[in-house]
Amino acid sequence: MLKIRRKKAKEEEQKEKQIVVEGQENELVESISLLAREDKGSVKKIITEVDTTVKEATKESLKSLKLLEEGRCPECGRKTKQFLFTSVCPYCGWSSFISPQQRKRIIVHLKDGFSIECDSTFDTKKGDILCITNDVVRQKVPRENVNYTEFAWTEEEIRERKTQREREATGICDWCGAALPKAQMDVVYAAFGASQERYLFCSSRCKLAFQGQYPVRIHRNCYQRLCEECDECIKKYDASDERIIRIEELAKEES
Ligand SMILES: [Zn+2]
Ligand SMILES: [Zn+2]
Ligand SMILES: [Zn+2]
Repeated sequence: MLKIRRKKAKEEEQKEKQIVVEGQENELVESISLLAREDKGSVKKIITEVDTTVKEATKESLKSLKLLEEGRCPECGRKTKQFLFTSVCPYCGWSSFISPQQRKRIIVHLKDGFSIECDSTFDTKKGDILCITNDVVRQKVPRENVNYTEFAWTEEEIRERKTQREREATGICDWCGAALPKAQMDVVYAAFGASQERYLFCSSRCKLAFQGQYPVRIHRNCYQRLCEECDECIKKYDASDERIIRIEELAKEES
């Protein structure tokens, strides 16, 4: 998966490079040969500088992706607010929109009463909104001419997205099979065989029933000992997670 993504990114990079450089190749070749004749060192220096810039930018993108994964703002690092198709940072105003899958569902309403329909828009951060249809930038609108942008989601798309979100946030009890929001469930980390497993329970009754049914594990007192102090199993999960410690402490008290 990662490989495919990386390959795709490489291809995109290639594409972008071509578009920007198109029509300037001669100039580029001329400049390089001129510099190479007069000052070999500076050509090398420029290439090193470009490499450094690319590396820095890659680091920055990775950092942003990691922050997004954690539900945090890529610009200020604080918690973002999640809506069905949008993430917004209430602290610095950063936002990210998903565009409707169907074509021509973004409608840019202009101040003069006209509107532009497109597949997606791109904010250049320099005062222009680009309207994109079928991978082609067809209009460039100065932001001050825009009244508002409409995301024309259909009721069906909204319903689908809601169901998907609910499915993602629901956990299944490993004892009775009940479905419950993950946040309300008890988590138990225990080693059966050589490696640690994670179990979800809808209630402490289900958790105790599970522990009663499966008392034999690789280390006999797995439920009672702290994962952090255990070196008998292959750990799959981070034992310093506050939630695990709290649950283990509870288990200790109960026994
Ligand atoms: Zn922010
Ligand atoms: Zn249960
Ligand atoms: Zn263990």
